[in-house]
Amino acid sequence: MRHVDVAVAGLGLSGAATAWAAVRRGHDVAAFETYEAGHRRGSSHGHSRIFRRAYLDPFYVELTGRAGHLWERLAAETGQNPLDRVGGIDHGPGRGPEDMTVLLREHGVAAELLDREEAARRFPGIRFAGPATYDPEGGVLDPEAAVASMVRLAVAGGAQVAYETPVRDIEEDGDGVRFRAGDETWHARTLVVAAGSWVGPLLGGLVPLPRLTVTEQPIFYFAPYEPGPWPTIVHGATSESPEMYALPEGPLVKVGDHVHGGVTTADGRDFAVPAEARSRAVEYVREWLPGLDPDPRSETTCLYTRAPGEDFILDRQGPIVVCSPCSGHGAKFAPLIGELVTDLVEGAEPIARFALTPPA
Ligand SMILES: Cc1cc2nc3c(=O)[nH]c(=O)nc-3n(C[C@H](O)[C@H](O)[C@H](O)COP(=O)(O)OP(=O)(O)OC[C@H]3O[C@@H](n4cnc5c(N)ncnc54)[C@H](O)[C@@H]3O)c2cc1C
Repeated sequence: MRHVDVAVAGLGLSGAATAWAAVRRGHDVAAFETYEAGHRRGSSHGHSRIFRRAYLDPFYVELTGRAGHLWERLAAETGQNPLDRVGGIDHGPGRGPEDMTVLLREHGVAAELLDREEAARRFPGIRFAGPATYDPEGGVLDPEAAVASMVRLAVAGGAQVAYETPVRDIEEDGDGVRFRAGDETWHARTLVVAAGSWVGPLLGGLVPLPRLTVTEQPIFYFAPYEPGPWPTIVHGATSESPEMYALPEGPLVKVGDHVHGGVTTADGRDFAVPAEARSRAVEYVREWLPGLDPDPRSETTCLYTRAPGEDFILDRQGPIVVCSPCSGHGAKFAPLIGELVTDLVEGAEPIARFALTPPA
């Protein structure tokens, strides 16, 4: 049997960040991933995710600030910056631009409240029905580049990393946990389960989890009529459309619907894009993003794992740490997730809101 201090199951953004943080803090780490590096079956593939300070909840505004510093640290340690701060726009009644701007400014973000005319002047590719918040710290993250950088740093710091090696048959064992990985049996003092949409199937029965709902989210790519910088956009629900988001990825703009997505399982999803989702995205672009050609250039899907209240689950039961930070907005926090999970590995109490049994 092989022994390690900290084992990590899963090398998406969360597992890669955990391996990097745990190694940096002096732990002996082994990390395992079911599939090949850069696979597209989970939640961390592709080249764009929104980073924003803009939340209406001060708890998350504070966490985005901490995460932002850690993204800068990653860039400094690798010489490659996965975060391009192109700026972010939040608009629509559901985003409360007036309150949002005040909250961000209270947290030291130089956010601006743009009236409708000023917003339209600055961002002619977007249609505004009211005011907008401009978040200058917002930007686009490249998740695949970030995973690769964090894994590289973890390996450079001594972590063992094995791809195409699923973790299975987990059982508590004396002072730790025993599991199979590939052909070998391992014993770890702590096992971090950062398995994305597979957290439920992998831990079912071992750790009582809150309800986790896996959905397959379609994403569409549109071409701008004019070249030029695009901000990231979160458009709160209107009477005609659900909350939508958009962000530049290379020469195209990616558009997604945060709300609708077919309920599925990590292994049962079919990678298909429903026709009504495509129609909804095209209609949305026609109505609200006049700077884009509404004929999609490409499309794909990605898995959300939604926890109650769109919060995360970061907690420990005995030697097992549950790391499920998705709910469709976890990417921006990845390096902070690595730190928070390593805190749990070292015996810290969970953040109450992220506990397996959150406060009522
Ligand atoms: C369409 C879409 C858009 C999003 N947009 C944003 C955004 O704009 N901003 C933002 O902040 N967040 C966004 N997110 C959320 C963000 O991408 C996720 O929070 C993040 O990628 C979750 O990473 P993860 O590592 O927890 O999960 P995953 O990336 O799914 O990684 C889990 C890994 O565990 C592996 N695994 C599973 N079982 C095992 C096992 N038994 N043994 C070993 N390995 C295993 C899987 O193969 C997988 O590689 C979006 C998500 C989606 C799907």
